[in-house]
Amino acid sequence: MQFVVLTLFPELFDTFQNHGMIRRAVELQKISLQTIQIRDFAEGRHRVTDDRPYGGGPGMVMKPEPVAGAMRSALKMAPDARRIHLTPQGRPFSNTMARQLAKEKELILLCGRYEGIDERICRNFIDDEVSIGDYILTGGELAAMVVIDAVSRFIPGVLGCADSSEDDSFSDCLLEHAHYTRPFEFEGDPVPEVLLSGDHGKIGHWRLQSSLMRTFFKRKDLLIDHALTAEELKIMEGWQKEIQSIIDFQQKE
Ligand code: SAM
Repeated sequence: MQFVVLTLFPELFDTFQNHGMIRRAVELQKISLQTIQIRDFAEGRHRVTDDRPYGGGPGMVMKPEPVAGAMRSALKMAPDARRIHLTPQGRPFSNTMARQLAKEKELILLCGRYEGIDERICRNFIDDEVSIGDYILTGGELAAMVVIDAVSRFIPGVLGCADSSEDDSFSDCLLEHAHYTRPFEFEGDPVPEVLLSGDHGKIGHWRLQSSLMRTFFKRKDLLIDHALTAEELKIMEGWQKEIQSIIDFQQKE
């Protein structure tokens, strides 16, 4: 996957691509990450990239010409790229979207600053608008990094263990189960015994219960979209019976 990022702050991506999974993915040539400085395509001695908004009002708007120049340059590097504008007005980014985007060969990510980018760019140069959440960042760079990170995890060979992204939260509309590592007992709090049993059937069942319970308590909304398996239904029916017996007991008292 080739990522090309259009930005006024390309240096923000230096640390990002020199650490952890992204660095490894670059080294393994699973991804490449190039940045294009939008200012390089601005005219005049001062290479100005923003101007006041037509109609008045606060803030500045990114001028269309430098962004168009940067986009045309990016398209020479990645001619088949899907062109994504990071904006709070875009489609909400999700794990599902990350998985879909990971199927592309090339992605161009356009980062705005100030009040945003002249609408004619959004209209004529962009395939998709993506938001990383209902809040306003000062620029699209952090959003682009979020997209690159989440998309890269779905590119085969990027994660150490080939299928580890499949167990992650959201992979099947469920949050992932709890994790434990050594020591066995930490400040009086032991690891659940079943995880030491070596019985993979029991461990799998415990993890499924943990996953269901966490989803139920933390993100009930996810369960609506999740088709429960027979095993999951049985677990939840078990909870229902236990809860009912406690209620019945209390009501008798
Ligand atoms: N005036 C714009 C609005 O109200 O929609 C917000 C502009 S914001 C201060 C500057 C830039 O940050 C945007 O052009 C966009 O690239 C980026 N940005 C801010 N919040 C974002 C979000 N939630 N998701 C993706 N990009 C975001």
